Amino acid sequence: MNGSNTQVVADITSANINSWSGGTSGTNRWVGAGASAPQIAVFIPTPTTATETDLATKARGAIAAHNYKLAGSAVFSEVSTAPASGGYFRVSYMTSYVPPGSTDYASYCANVSTAAFAPNPVGPTSPSGVRNQTVAWINLGNGHCDVTQDIVTHEFGHALGLGNHFQGFGYPDAISTEFWDVLATLYANPVRTPAAQLVVRRAPA
Ligand SMILES: [Zn+2]
Repeated sequence: MNGSNTQVVADITSANINSWSGGTSGTNRWVGAGASAPQIAVFIPTPTTATETDLATKARGAIAAHNYKLAGSAVFSEVSTAPASGGYFRVSYMTSYVPPGSTDYASYCANVSTAAFAPNPVGPTSPSGVRNQTVAWINLGNGHCDVTQDIVTHEFGHALGLGNHFQGFGYPDAISTEFWDVLATLYANPVRTPAAQLVVRRAPA
């Protein structure tokens, strides 16, 4: 699915600009120094089980996909220890949030939050809409669901600033062409760009 430019802007408005109260009038995202692309470290802890090895492989797949689709706008690199300061993505195994009492493990197979097993989404950490001090926990799996590559890639989208789901992000599929165009556009425009000033960028096929 390829949404119109209007649809891409509408999706950024709902999923990013309007997703965080106390946020900004405009987009929020990770930023680089000056006009450069943000450098985002992805901490992938050393796996200790076959399941964790599979999840680590899929996290690397998500890094590769994002480096391709957002080339020039964001750079992702794996690290094997948690960075001492600043923000980063932290891959976490078997720690997805499942509501108390729920057995709908498939619907709660993965999430992004401020901690393991936590439900709260991660918003911008400054009034200027910058996310760089965030540690975005990418909680993968709960022991009762199938964590697909597309699910892991989808969670990276949440960590990059997508809150609410939209057509092509969460339903009917985890990710889509629309997902990539939304992210490409979010990162091709400066932080705090108002919806009316967004210039749509299409991700490479
Ligand atoms: Zn989601």
